[in-house]
Amino acid sequence: MKVDTKCLHEGWKPKQGEPRQLPVYQSTTFKYDTSEYMGKLFDLEASGYFYTRLQNPTNDFVAEKICAMEGGVAAMLTSSGQAANFYAIFNICEAGDHFITSSAIYGGTYNLFNVTMRKMGIECTFVDQSLPEEELAKYFKPNTKAVFGETITNPTVTVFDFEKFARLAHSHGVPLIVDNTFATPVNCRPFEWGADIVTHSTTKYMDGQGVTVGGCIVDSGNFDWMAHKDKFPGLCTPDDSYHGITYAERFGKGAYITKATAQLMRDLGSIQSPQNAFYLNLGLETLSVRMERHCKNALKVAKYLKANSKIDWVHFADLEGDEYNDLAKKYMPNGTCGVLAFAVKGGRENSIKFMDSLNFISIATHVADAKSCLLHPASHTHRQLTDEQLREAGVAPDLIRLSVGIEDADDIIADIEQALANI
Ligand SMILES: *Cc1c(COP(=O)(O)O)cnc(C)c1O
Repeated sequence: MKVDTKCLHEGWKPKQGEPRQLPVYQSTTFKYDTSEYMGKLFDLEASGYFYTRLQNPTNDFVAEKICAMEGGVAAMLTSSGQAANFYAIFNICEAGDHFITSSAIYGGTYNLFNVTMRKMGIECTFVDQSLPEEELAKYFKPNTKAVFGETITNPTVTVFDFEKFARLAHSHGVPLIVDNTFATPVNCRPFEWGADIVTHSTTKYMDGQGVTVGGCIVDSGNFDWMAHKDKFPGLCTPDDSYHGITYAERFGKGAYITKATAQLMRDLGSIQSPQNAFYLNLGLETLSVRMERHCKNALKVAKYLKANSKIDWVHFADLEGDEYNDLAKKYMPNGTCGVLAFAVKGGRENSIKFMDSLNFISIATHVADAKSCLLHPASHTHRQLTDEQLREAGVAPDLIRLSVGIEDADDIIADIEQALANI
């Protein structure tokens, strides 16, 4: 099946007489007939559900769908994209470990890595992703355990060079973890380019209608943990909290997700509610048609902005001549996403005037939604930073992030045009 078909038919596959739509298993608990069987569940010797803090069937059907769309072997849902990125790293890094991340990443992830995980004793190095391979190789240390990046960055919309980073990660014996939120598996499947683990904030395009916060982690099953045993003791040596199970031996390609479920979900409990997983599944059903429309609309809007004399600059990788156009064509030939960045001439003052004059394009701390919305990081998400600090974070003070929705493109352009007329 092609990814468009998988959106509808992977995951829940009803048998004779079963509901056509995915059922919500609104239950914390699951019943068993013998205490012996229940014991086996706790020893991970038998598979089955016992408590929704660890796993729930509704969530697993949705995770299975996303897994199939990405071409992975195992997946899990989390309560948010933040939880997904935290678990993805924490599953293989502990106090004293180090990882490398592109500095061009979502602000929430930046804080998670730079502040909270540092407090836990996990260090990371932020790197400029455009540096040549030899330069990037210098940042690896003996305790480096992973490399992290985003397919398309939020909010600067740059494109990640998968092949370069996969070579770097693998030649140093560590996995490449990629946040594929903006492209979605409809437009990009990072496993085909060497990524080992993919994460998502399903809050964005996957849900698509601003209904639920959620996340997902998918494992390609391609990284050979046992070949780098010394680096990954959590997967390659016995887990005392599970009677000495060695995940990589017992679960093979499923080891990474099994460990994240059995240890991290058990102990930290960032499970997605089954009701939210149901809404997410509805979003996934229409993802491929929405992505097509988002990309088409965004390109039209980007071309309009590029040609407008009141606009200083436009970044959109699908735009001919954009700095990232070559990478976009290589990794996302059907289009990147509906998010673009641009600046109105005349600095912060004009940017604010422009935004306040819009009609249906709303100012929202949200992105990748069916309804067009926009945000000025310097006055909103990043308002505590000075212009200098903003530039250091790679966010121009005049950058406006526009998330182009699935309305008629001409209406979107008309709204922008009337707002520009006010400045
Ligand atoms: C929004 C976002 C996140 C965080 O996800 P939440 O669901 O808000 O926790 C992570 N990565 C990217 C690229 C995002 O856009």
